Amino acid sequence: MTQRIAVIPGDGIGTEVMPEGLRTLEAAAKKFGIDLAFEHFDFACCDYYAKHGQMMPDDWFEQLKDFDAIFYGAVGWPDTVPDHVSLWGSLLQFRRQFDQYINLRPCKLLPGIKSPLADRNPGDIDFYVVRENTEGEYSSVGGKMFEGTDREVVIQETVMSRHGVDRVLKYAFDLAQSRPRKKLTSATKSNGIAITMPWWDERVEAMSGNYSDVSVDKFHIDILTANFVLHPDWFDVVVGSNLFGDILSDLGPACTGTIGVAPSANINPEGKFPSLFEPVHGSAPDIAGKGIANPIGQIWSGAMMLEHLGHAKAAKAIVDAFEAVLAEGDASLLTPDIRGQGTTETLGQAIAERILETE
Ligand code: ATP
Ligand code: MG
Repeated sequence: MTQRIAVIPGDGIGTEVMPEGLRTLEAAAKKFGIDLAFEHFDFACCDYYAKHGQMMPDDWFEQLKDFDAIFYGAVGWPDTVPDHVSLWGSLLQFRRQFDQYINLRPCKLLPGIKSPLADRNPGDIDFYVVRENTEGEYSSVGGKMFEGTDREVVIQETVMSRHGVDRVLKYAFDLAQSRPRKKLTSATKSNGIAITMPWWDERVEAMSGNYSDVSVDKFHIDILTANFVLHPDWFDVVVGSNLFGDILSDLGPACTGTIGVAPSANINPEGKFPSLFEPVHGSAPDIAGKGIANPIGQIWSGAMMLEHLGHAKAAKAIVDAFEAVLAEGDASLLTPDIRGQGTTETLGQAIAERILETE
């Protein structure tokens, strides 16, 4: 069965790391006999906006909805399009219209990469952040009163639904259950946010009844962020609302060194719509065009995509391959952000070769 992948390189270094993401996926597909068909799209980037006055064609949903997955590079080129316009016109449309209600980010310290946290080695940091991706604090419910006067009041509501929260908790519990430590941490703030957060805690409690083998703890978001830095080894799967998950899913990868290696997935677990896989980093205008962007964030996102599509062995082969290349630490192959003198291409090629050598 052919699985169809929509390829959207996007802006800046997105166009440079994407070829390496594809190179490694092709190597894995060849090695493991997987039938992938890639189709390239030139929209959801700021060049498209410059030509058409919008980020995507009106029929983007129709064009993409039947793909098995979307492989995205990076979006944003603030010199030509304000970031909120490019983001709301592309990625956030995908997340909402394709009901990608899970945002998943692995936080794993890789060999050869220095954590900004002192004395941390690979194995000490290896957890997932699961963020609720469609509701919660990021609602448009609210408004302004007495605008422009000294009586001005602004209100923005948090909207949480039982359906919306339970489906994220279920995903997080399932993920925890599939991992050796079987440990779930819930981010909350039920001491200060007295309606939504105690209710979130109740939903966690209720869901935990279905997972007797998963141990559950909860932390208030303030001390949780501190513990990410002080005790990253405590965590296995961490679940949070849209806002708390947003914060944690930037802090987690930051604890593992360079932003250039971190991947992410925006998932519609039921497969009704395509899920989207992209590196955590942005378009990095400061290094764009130089061919020195680290491609591992894109490559690892491709591995997450393969896993989502049912190819766990091939996904693991990709992760094993970049871990091996990093562990060997040949500076002529590595990109400058990880203390190398190589290029996007030398690193991508080395990883692809390693995948083909998988036993
Ligand atoms: P976003 O577009 O998500 O808001 P941003 O503009 O805040 O992101 P990035 O574009 O990710 O940030 O860039 C932040 C910094 O990290 C820049 O200095 C950039 O050069 C560096 N960086 C980002 N991605 C990579 C990469 N793949 N390899 C090396 N350096 C990177
Ligand atoms: Mg940016």
